[in-house]
Amino acid sequence: MSADAPTLCPECDLLQQSPPLPPGGTSCCARCGHTLHRDRPNSVDRTLALTITGLVLFAIANAFPFLSFEMRGRITETTLMTGVWDLAAQGKGEVAAVVLFTSILAPGLQLALLLVVLAPLKWGGRLPPGFPTLFRWFKRLLPWGMIDVFMIGILVSVVKLTDMAHIVPGLSLFAFLLLIFVLAAAQAALDPDAVWERVPLRPEVRHLPNAREAVVACDVCELVVPVAAVDLDARGRSRCPRCTDVLHRRKPESLQRTWALVIAAALCYLPANLYPVMSVTSLGKTQADTILSGVLFLLHHGMWPLAIILFTASIFVPLLKLLSLMFLLLSVQLRSRWRPHERTKLYRITEAIGRWSMVDVYVVTILVALVRLGNLASIEARAGAVFFCAVVILTMFAAMSFDPRLIWDALEQEHDGAATVRSNAG
Ligand SMILES: [Zn+2]
Ligand SMILES: [Zn+2]
Repeated sequence: MSADAPTLCPECDLLQQSPPLPPGGTSCCARCGHTLHRDRPNSVDRTLALTITGLVLFAIANAFPFLSFEMRGRITETTLMTGVWDLAAQGKGEVAAVVLFTSILAPGLQLALLLVVLAPLKWGGRLPPGFPTLFRWFKRLLPWGMIDVFMIGILVSVVKLTDMAHIVPGLSLFAFLLLIFVLAAAQAALDPDAVWERVPLRPEVRHLPNAREAVVACDVCELVVPVAAVDLDARGRSRCPRCTDVLHRRKPESLQRTWALVIAAALCYLPANLYPVMSVTSLGKTQADTILSGVLFLLHHGMWPLAIILFTASIFVPLLKLLSLMFLLLSVQLRSRWRPHERTKLYRITEAIGRWSMVDVYVVTILVALVRLGNLASIEARAGAVFFCAVVILTMFAAMSFDPRLIWDALEQEHDGAATVRSNAG
């Protein structure tokens, strides 16, 4: 991060100058406390080493079975892909697609994109062709890689099956466990500023904006561009001169889009909790399982830590997300000036916790893949799982389309008003 680069806080839109950072230091927004920049020493080398390790682990995790299920001498083995195929075969293609994307494609693509961007930088000293698009996609994929949540899903599934059968962990389970830490470490080691800085900029984009100049910040590469220096595309939209992403002062139609997604998610929340998410057939008897009965099962078996995790992730978090997004939307629409710091924090929490609700979707996927011995024992995904999956995805999109800068706009206008009054008086 060059010392003189201006930064517009992505959460409250305050324009500020970042101080030069000591090794490992961070700079935070002076108004809302959002972390603006973090210095990560040897970022390219460390991230590249972790990425290559991650790719090897990813290959192992996908090549071998991760759990085996043994009942009365019959064994079924499951790989990461088995659950996806079985869900699709049971007519739950939409859930299968979400599981495939979040547990296999997104983490795999993240690692591949990091390798494609960082390897030429390290060994050729230059950026690969099409770099801005590749790196932009890497950033877009970040919230969708959920292998850590998948691991909790594996734990819950194993506990659920201990009564029924013997579960044996496979080689890929250990690779998968290591991959969680390696991928998290690679993301933490990466300093996006250090990579973006390698893109050459035109002088009129590079100059420091003065106080009176209108500026706009890129959502992807965080470059602050004077409005006069933005690129226009064939359709007349402003484009970032560095990463070519479309520039917006605020996320487009933020309130309308967020409301639409929140309402859609709220409509799915009831059937998600009332309909069974799966049905379990054991020795000829079939029993339907809702999300709540899954939590109660864990409680009856004394697994209260897992029961608490499952209850929080599946029932409490989606409800909390819906209520806090509605509260944030209403507060912005009423132009409230009440506690902007706390409302920004609430937004941060809402955005961060959403992915953990996927646990139950993964539990269903893993159980469906493991338990398929016909009348002896089999598990089938039911309609509740589709609704539940829809709630998780819709609330994630809703949190992404809400623009936290809207919270601060009411205060900005108050300030602008005060400034005008003062200058008039002067
Ligand atoms: Zn801020
Ligand atoms: Zn950009």
